[in-house]
Amino acid sequence: MWLDPTARPGLARCSAPTKATAAQVAALRALPDPVEPVTPHLACELAAGHQDDHAALAVASHGGDQWWWLRWDRRRRDVVQIDPCEATEHAAPDPEYCLFPAGHPGSHSFNLQPGPNRKVDDEPPPTQPHWALRGPRM
Ligand SMILES: [Zn+2]
Ligand SMILES: [Zn+2]
Repeated sequence: MWLDPTARPGLARCSAPTKATAAQVAALRALPDPVEPVTPHLACELAAGHQDDHAALAVASHGGDQWWWLRWDRRRRDVVQIDPCEATEHAAPDPEYCLFPAGHPGSHSFNLQPGPNRKVDDEPPPTQPHWALRGPRM
């Protein structure tokens, strides 16, 4: 497994890329009230060096109530609905929620470097998702 030697241990993101199948994208696009458009190109959001499957949020549907993840390893790729991890940052004046699926391996999202994928706003305006759209990769 490749790890960036300059990254602080446990803080980097896995970022393994994947692509959802056309059928998966079609199924995800059929979900009601997506928070942001479905894109087939996804990158693992979990901590670098994590155990188990890779995971990337494919879409939050039903206005953000249902979180759909692409979970994959070398042999298979599944779309699954998993509620977010319930962990929150301790000892922070403005605690962040973990944005990973419940039961995820590795560190919680708030312990990692800010990812290229999204971040949470406290009070998102009505036209904005809870997290920012995907930005440029570092
Ligand atoms: Zn991964
Ligand atoms: Zn977590």
